[in-house]
Amino acid sequence: MTGTRVLVLNSGSSSVKYQLLDMETETRLAVGLVERIGEGASRLAHTPLSTGGGQRVQRTPVADHEAALKAVAEELAADGLGLDSPRLAAIGHRVVHGGLRFTEPALIDEEVIAEIERLVPVAPLHNPANLTGIRTARALRPTLPQVAVFDTAFHASMPEYAARYAIDARIADEHRIRRYGFHGTSHAYVARRAARLLDRDPAGLNLIVLHLGNGASASAVRGGRCVDTSMGLTPLEGLVMGTRSGDIDPAVVFHLGRVAGMSMDEVDTLLNRHSGLAGLCGDNDMREIRRRIDAGDAAAQLAFNVYTHRLRKYVGAYHAVLGRVDAVVFTAGVGENSPPVREAAVAGLDAFGLAVDPELNTRDSAEPRLVSPAGARVAVAVVPTDEELEIAQQTHALVAR
Ligand code: AMP
Repeated sequence: MTGTRVLVLNSGSSSVKYQLLDMETETRLAVGLVERIGEGASRLAHTPLSTGGGQRVQRTPVADHEAALKAVAEELAADGLGLDSPRLAAIGHRVVHGGLRFTEPALIDEEVIAEIERLVPVAPLHNPANLTGIRTARALRPTLPQVAVFDTAFHASMPEYAARYAIDARIADEHRIRRYGFHGTSHAYVARRAARLLDRDPAGLNLIVLHLGNGASASAVRGGRCVDTSMGLTPLEGLVMGTRSGDIDPAVVFHLGRVAGMSMDEVDTLLNRHSGLAGLCGDNDMREIRRRIDAGDAAAQLAFNVYTHRLRKYVGAYHAVLGRVDAVVFTAGVGENSPPVREAAVAGLDAFGLAVDPELNTRDSAEPRLVSPAGARVAVAVVPTDEELEIAQQTHALVAR
């Protein structure tokens, strides 16, 4: 019999986030984060939820991902949750880019690793770090099944006409340029959980899912399958985000090169790190932006208006894509916690049957819930995302087959 526990690893370039879950009960046994790997001031914060113990913090330097994972293994072992336990069924890895090949989670072997490596040119910031996590975990537990769960996979069901950019097809094919979409694990989880909230079979539901975190993306979901999404070849396209511009006239890039004399790398940094809310008003945290608006700050108000105008455009566009919409679902840091953003995202869309109930929308809750008025034609819902649970479920389902 295979075990029931799954370790979920989300490996970034200088950090590893982890959660150990028991899939029989779908409970978290431990959660933690190693930060600033390879820097002097590393920090490991580990919380053993199964023992009810408080958070333990270590501040010893962690040289690399191997040292990070060994430190995590020691912390888990100290709580009787060691990685050598027969109860550990698998390790599930978050992998950002799965390209066209990975439309489902994949049991990791040398060939899968080579394919993730081949996708590095389209995900230069993420896939190398994800690979480091995979290689390190395999070295630590060579016989344990390990599964890659891809951020792009949920969007692989998009029809070709939604995924294609209208550029020279030969060049697009040669360089694998197309819309892939990201945050797929979150969109998949939230779409399924929203169907449960609505007490409906996902197969008969049309949803617009708005994942609004520091990164932000929208998806149109028909019958549980993605039919369009706002992020593209990279996570830069689509909605206005914390520090990314989202949609922009591509000619802005030529203009910045030819007229402003910026290099490609400078434009890349500008659009990915110094744009979006941060570029517009200097802050990327919606809480701070709301505080500034309340104090009468015009730049913060404009940033909010640009952000929510783009959201409304996508809500309208995905109505047209889907034909009929049953629910608009908000998730992630901003989507779950910002009533003014939810209100503004559907403001003036009464003709679409969309509205929020002011009291329900501002009520504090961490539960999936409806915020539309009773009897509304289109439901507006808030569903907290849980990407780790989704990765653990997909991983466990694959190894328990
Ligand atoms: P995420 O990427 O999902 O972790 O979301 C992070 C973002 O959520 C932050 O940058 C904040 O802008 C936003 N956020 C978190 N809590 C709140 C809150 N209470 N009100 C508004 N925005 C929030």
